[in-house]
Amino acid sequence: MTTNTSRLRLLVLEGDGIGPEIMAATLRVLQAAERAFGLKLAFEPAQVGLAALRAQGTTLPDQVVEMAKAADGVVLGPVTTHEYPPRAQGGRNPSGELRKTLDLYANIRPARSRAGFPPRCGKPIDLVIVRENTEGFYADRNMHLGLGEFMPTPDLALSVRKITREGSTRIAEAAFRLAMQRRKKVTAVHKSNVLRVTDGLFLECVRAVAARYPDITYEERIVDAMAALLVRDASAFDVVVTTNMYGDILSDEASEISGSLGLAASLNAGSAHAVAQAQHGSAPDIAGKNIANPAALIGSAAMLLAWLGDRRKDNELTRAAAAIEAALDTAIAQPEWRTPDLGGSLGTDAFGEKVAAILSTSP
Ligand code: NAD
Repeated sequence: MTTNTSRLRLLVLEGDGIGPEIMAATLRVLQAAERAFGLKLAFEPAQVGLAALRAQGTTLPDQVVEMAKAADGVVLGPVTTHEYPPRAQGGRNPSGELRKTLDLYANIRPARSRAGFPPRCGKPIDLVIVRENTEGFYADRNMHLGLGEFMPTPDLALSVRKITREGSTRIAEAAFRLAMQRRKKVTAVHKSNVLRVTDGLFLECVRAVAARYPDITYEERIVDAMAALLVRDASAFDVVVTTNMYGDILSDEASEISGSLGLAASLNAGSAHAVAQAQHGSAPDIAGKNIANPAALIGSAAMLLAWLGDRRKDNELTRAAAAIEAALDTAIAQPEWRTPDLGGSLGTDAFGEKVAAILSTSP
């Protein structure tokens, strides 16, 4: 039963590279879900990235940040950050700045193999990497003022890594809450054998949260071993909690093991806001060719609907999210419906149409 009838305002930011193509496919699917489940969605498009730089002199106009704060949710395409000019010339990382400004501390990154498509580690996998998203080694978000990277001399570059008790505790709590709804296992990934102080603090906080969840099996792995264990048998993991950069790297690895980076959905969530965003980048090597897999962004949009459904106690949003996931499974199960990254030949737009068509027949 739908308990909230107000229109949901979703800010839509295409981004760069394959962004416009995969966003068009994602919107087609969201519109099909809107019709099938009687949702009331209002899509508010705005420009970020290189198009915004050309038109407005910055890759992230202030007005877009204000729109993101006012929206119920944001769907963000990938951004070609490494081509952006320095900040003084308009280069701002939309992804990093939105995470910091909206305090999206939890980056939830599932990696799930799909029926009919063999995972690369041989066994079906279903894990979620819960990545801290607002501190760590990320120079654009770990300082109050200035950047966490600097050059005291032309031959010396330094990078500061920030780990806080608050940041570590709240990401651990997000991981354990999630594990309670899943297979009740949490793996904390760290490098405290070398980074004794920072990763030591992170582990201390995760252990304190673990002590409050006696029903959850808790284990710890060092990040380099974890990279190998994922390849060996990723089916051994359920919820993996870790700091920002380890989570970024391991989640690309896990999603590729599950089938393809093109399947890698993710949600950036805080206590008041959420941004749907695929794990992958803007893939300039395949941009404009209609061959990118839009499943990651479609799946991310489904995660946003699920997050909104949970917050608003709106069953139709929750059902729509589950139906989008199921429609992705159905489409990917057919070899002739797969995009080239999965060995098929279907285009980005045709894949979006297939998923939308499956949704329109949802019970
Ligand atoms: P990438 O993730 O864009 O691409 C890595 C490889 O995966 C490429 O071969 C690409 O073709 C392929 N790939 C990625 N998404 C795909 C999809 N949906 N379907 C099929 N194949 C897909 O990483 P990169 O090439 O290292 O980075 C490109 C740009 O993206 C850089 O400017 C980087 O800074 C940026 N980036 C942005 C984000 C983000 O917006 N969240 C994340 C990572 C990288």
